Amino acid sequence: AAVPSDSPTIFDRIINKEIPANVVFEDDKVLAFRDISPQAPTHILIIPKVKDGLTGLSKAEERHCEILGQLLYTAKVVAKQEGLEDGFRIVINDGPKACQSVYHIHVHLIGGRQMNWPPG
Ligand code: 5GP
Repeated sequence: AAVPSDSPTIFDRIINKEIPANVVFEDDKVLAFRDISPQAPTHILIIPKVKDGLTGLSKAEERHCEILGQLLYTAKVVAKQEGLEDGFRIVINDGPKACQSVYHIHVHLIGGRQMNWPPG
């Protein structure tokens, strides 16, 4: 597992268009793009364009409430765009025990197949 850090990540390079990504939604605050290693037919990552210390959800402060809402709302918009009417899953991995590997907060939007609960 990656060591938690506030250093720039690969996602900054995607935001800055230094490396390509399959972008499915973008506005001034958030970017949504397909995961390079999809765990389901639809697997999209939704991230803030400005990290502002949000390496993960555990670092959230009151000032982050608006962007956190925008990330979740974008997940809903993209789920509809992707045709996930029958259901989808939202995941935020936080920290080593949750297998977080990129320390720039991101919402996983996963769907297109039956998913199980509990997730394991
Ligand atoms: P985490 O494990 O931190 O919750 O999720 C990080 C996700 O980022 C993983 O699902 C991984 O496949 C994805 N990822 C890592 N590097 C890249 C990349 O360069 N491009 C894209 N599109 N996804 C990436």
